Parts: sequence; structure tokens; C-alpha cells
Amino acid sequence: MKQTISRRSLLKATAGASALAAMGISPIASASTKKVVVVGGGIGGATAAKYLKKLDSSIDVTVIEANPDYYTCFMSNEVIGGHRDLNNIKFGYKGLAGHGVNVVHDKVTGIDAANKTVKTAGGKSFGYDRCIVSPGVDFKYEMIEGYSAEVAETSIPHAWKAGPQTKMLRDQLVAMKDGGTVVVVPPTNPFRCPPGPYERISLIASYLKEHKPNSKIVVLDPKNKFSKFGLFMDGWKRHYGYGTENSMIKWIKADEGGTVTKVDVASKTVTCGAGEFKADVLNIIPSQKAGKIAFDAGLTNDKGWCPIDQKTFESTIHAGIHVVGDSSVASPLPKSGYAANSEAKVCAAAVYAMLNGKDMVEPSWVNTCYSVIHPGDGISVAMVYAYEGDKIVKVPGAGGLTGKFDPALRKREEAYAHSWFNNITADVFG
Ligand SMILES: Cc1cc2nc3c(=O)[nH]c(=O)nc-3n(C[C@H](O)[C@H](O)[C@H](O)COP(=O)(O)OP(=O)(O)OC[C@H]3O[C@@H](n4cnc5c(N)ncnc54)[C@H](O)[C@@H]3O)c2cc1C
Repeated sequence: MKQTISRRSLLKATAGASALAAMGISPIASASTKKVVVVGGGIGGATAAKYLKKLDSSIDVTVIEANPDYYTCFMSNEVIGGHRDLNNIKFGYKGLAGHGVNVVHDKVTGIDAANKTVKTAGGKSFGYDRCIVSPGVDFKYEMIEGYSAEVAETSIPHAWKAGPQTKMLRDQLVAMKDGGTVVVVPPTNPFRCPPGPYERISLIASYLKEHKPNSKIVVLDPKNKFSKFGLFMDGWKRHYGYGTENSMIKWIKADEGGTVTKVDVASKTVTCGAGEFKADVLNIIPSQKAGKIAFDAGLTNDKGWCPIDQKTFESTIHAGIHVVGDSSVASPLPKSGYAANSEAKVCAAAVYAMLNGKDMVEPSWVNTCYSVIHPGDGISVAMVYAYEGDKIVKVPGAGGLTGKFDPALRKREEAYAHSWFNNITADVFG
């Protein structure tokens, strides 16, 4: 696969069922009665379940997902900026059930690697031959004194898992007076969706520019640089006066004291090396770690992420359990939805091969992260990845960043972003 597939055909192939054919695998219906339990029906989990079932319809695949509906994080920044409705990023599980996957809505409370069983809060127990875990991220609230899951749910949303907090942040922006201050606190590396905070800042700025032009955004960052840095800086200059006296956005980096250590919830005031900042609307995106169940199941390393064999995504701690998506250590792949989707297809191929006594095909992966800086101004970063030695590597010369500014190209990039959203959600939930 690695040597014959171009970036264009790989992008096409990994966007649909043809991904399996591209891996040199023909779907079969064998006499197997093997059981696979998938923990988490988000992007990684739902993709793995669907594609495993497509590979071998006789495998009994069960997805256990805590919520009845899934809100995509991708395009949630457009909801916050007022360019898209929350219902537009909501997806159900009928599609997955239609592929023959058993969908159970319950919370997984434990995974017993020795006895190969998964237990749920609802008191159920599921045996498995192989388990695939894709629980997304959890948050290190403790890194900012005063912040907590409860505060995030009630008054200072992180909105880093889409849903009610996305709506809360949007509503707070709408309620804010013109001339107000929005403070955004991005996380430390590594985190889900590296360009995400900066797309959010851009789309909040686009809303304020149109509806509350006397308002300001202060970004207090624990980093000195971020994904697509040059493209965002250039966009902020063109649209929001960045770098001038009248800039709508003020970005205070780590070296300037941007690392926030404390929040006073009642007054929405944060403290960092650069001083105290009082917000009218405060968005703290905490630093991140693997989803809680990964910790409970003993799948995490001392950095709080799940080490895996990068060819099969099988945990290097517990045999028989695979981890995909944001929780896994799959660097240089980023923690993105596109990467989770790509990893899940490779993982499905590995699980299929293991359960059927076949050799695993040579995998490859793809990722593109789009961001919209302002309506009509889209940018992207793309990369193709291969497996070499015992790890995932970037394919030299593949991918890259959006090039020199060209209004027509930027409009096309925005259209590609929206088209990618339609395609990936159809691929995962359709
Ligand atoms: C603002 C924002 C914008 C983004 N934009 C993009 C983008 O443009 N492109 C892109 O590629 N990526 C984007 N991402 C990143 C993308 O959303 C994630 O990388 C992706 O969702 C990771 O998939 P996952 O399967 O690891 O986790 P998730 O999709 O979060 O799925 C985890 C699922 O597991 C469930 N779960 C967790 N624990 C349990 C349990 N104990 N029992 C049962 N169920 C459980 C959860 O309910 C959830 O449904 C963005 C993220 C954010 C925050």
C-alpha cells in the first residue's frame, strides 16, 4: 500500500469503504463467532466498529457509548462564532446499527484485561476476544487553581467536548455587551486538535467584529508558538488588525507570562505571570490526558497517554486491548478526528487479521486539519504517514500547508473544510 498509493488516492480511499480494498483486504463473511467490544462511540470507536463489520460481518461487534448522541468537535467553533447551528453537528447511532453493530448506551466502568471482560455502570458485563478503546480526552483541571469539571459545566465552559458547553459559550458571547473582554486560555501540548484554540479565537473575533466591534479578545497562552502559526498571524493581521493599536486580539505567549495558574470563578479573573485579567466571557481549555477509562483500565503511561504498537494499535501494557484516537500515543499523527478515523481503519484491519489468523497489511495514514480564520478564509495542514521500522513516520514531500495568500484559494479551502466535514461524518456515522 505504502509504495503504490498516491496522496490523492489515499485521501479518497480512506474517506470510504474503498479504504479496505486499498489495504489489500476483501470483506469476507467467515464462520467466526469472535467478539469485539469497542469502548467509546466517538470518531475512533464508531469508525473502528463500522469498518471491522465491513471486513468480516460474522464478527460480533458491540460499541458501548455513554451518550445517546454525538456532537462533533469539528465545526463546533463555527457554532461558537454563530456560523452554524448546534443541531448541525449532532449525530446518532442508527447508521452504525444499520451496519450490524450492536450499540449499547451505557458508561464503561472497567476493563478486565486478564478475564477479557468490560463492565458498565448499568451492571452489564461483556466478554471479548479483542477490545478497542477510543475514549477521547480527559482534562487536567488541577493545573489551574480554582478550575474544575463542575465550574466548566456551570459557568466557565471549556467547550473542548462539543455539546452543552458549546452552546453555553455561544450564549455567553451573545449576551456580552459591546466593549466586553473575552479571555481565552489554550492548553499545553499535546492536546486534541492543535489548531483548534486558534480557529476558535478567529471565529469569535469574526463574530465580535460584525456584532460587537468595540470588544477585545485576550489570549493567555502557556506556549510560544502553535499549529499553523504563520497562517493564523497573517489572517489575524488582515481581518482583526493584529499587531496594531486597534487589534481586536491580544496574544500573550508563555515567554511574556501567558501561563495561567489560577482563576477566581465568581469574578471570572485569571492570574498569570503577565498579571490579572478580568473577563466578561472566559474560555479555559485545560491541558489534557487520556480519557478516564484508559486510566481505570491501566492502559496509560506516566505521561497520561496510552502507549501502543503503532502498527496494530494494540496496547503495549495490556495484550488484547487496542487504543485508537486522542488517547493513544500515535505521534507524529496529531490528536485529530481525521487521524482518529485513519487510525481506527488501520486498527480494524489489524483486529480482523489477528482474529482470522492473517498477516497484517502494511498500514498508512492520512490527516488534514482545516481551520477557518474568517468566513471565506480557510487554511489547512495535511500529511501522509507510513510505518517504518517500528513506528509511524511522515512521508517526505507529502502534505504541507496552505500556500501564499490568494482569496480564491482561501475560499476554496473553506469549501473543502465544509465538504470534509460532510464526508467524514457520513463515513463515521452513515
Ligand atoms: C474545537 C475543536 C475542533 C476540532 N476540529 C477538528 C477538525 O477540524 N478536524 C479534525 O480532524 N479534528 C478536529 N478536532 C479533534 C477531534 O474532535 C478529536 O480528535 C476526535 O474526536 C478524537 O476521536 P476519539 O475517538 O479519540 O474521541 P471522541 O470523538 O471524543 O470519542 C470518545 C467517545 O468515547 C465516549 N466515552 C468516553 N469514556 C467512556 C466510557 N467510560 N464509557 C462509554 N463511553 C465513553 C465519549 O462519550 C465519546 O463519545 C477538533 C476538536 C475540537 C475540540
